[in-house]
Amino acid sequence: MSEVLYEGKSKIVCKSDRDDAYIINYKDTATAGNGAKKEDLEGKGKLNAEISNIIFKYLEENGVKTHLIEVIDDITVLVKKAEIILVEVIVRNIAAGSFSKKYGVPEGTALKNVIVEYSFKSDEYGDPLINDQQITAIGLATQNELDNMAAQALKVNELLSALFLKAGIKLIDFKLEFGRAGGEILLCDEISPDSCRFWDAKTNEKLDKDRFRRDLGDVLAGYRDVLSRLKTNEER
Ligand code: UDP
Repeated sequence: MSEVLYEGKSKIVCKSDRDDAYIINYKDTATAGNGAKKEDLEGKGKLNAEISNIIFKYLEENGVKTHLIEVIDDITVLVKKAEIILVEVIVRNIAAGSFSKKYGVPEGTALKNVIVEYSFKSDEYGDPLINDQQITAIGLATQNELDNMAAQALKVNELLSALFLKAGIKLIDFKLEFGRAGGEILLCDEISPDSCRFWDAKTNEKLDKDRFRRDLGDVLAGYRDVLSRLKTNEER
């Protein structure tokens, strides 16, 4: 592996032979509760890499600017160097997870409008919810950048909701990360069952990281199901 610049919970960022690019390796490690629960799930890295690559290519084809340059192997991608904005953008279509808990709205409740919310990307402070004014006040991003990210996030939501519906999957919610590169804001990180909630459209079976968070059984069976349905979609 080339020189490691940063090792995160689920990915490793390395130097590449290009000044304007990094290499990212997907790991098998699964974590939840800000790292409190941690386990290696053999093959998770490969599944997430493949799912995320399919999604990023689809988004790029549909006008969303992403960091993905090329796929190097099963678990490795070359991406544009970007300065990650420390704001996680969460989009919700249906109540679940922390939203359900915090506001007493049962999981599975349809929301009257799509929600875009932000959290401060910080392991130290436990990714707390943060609003526009707090973000601009402490200089995590400008209002322009936030407006850009929110608009991109809503576009991603429309594109992905349609893509997954074709695959018989409901997109409940998801988290995006963005970065600054050459005066642009790029969609970075990954989009996978680690960062989204995917429910089977007929049975509501959970096909995402909630299987790990909540000990619902074979975690990767859900991830494999998501991947195979995306591939079937592509063949159509
Ligand atoms: N999410 C994520 N990383 C985080 C927090 C949330 O990828 O650090 C994703 C999560 O998988 C879900 C969505 O963002 O698809 C909303 O998560 P929520 O706020 O409900 O938090 P959770 O229940 O995961 O703690």
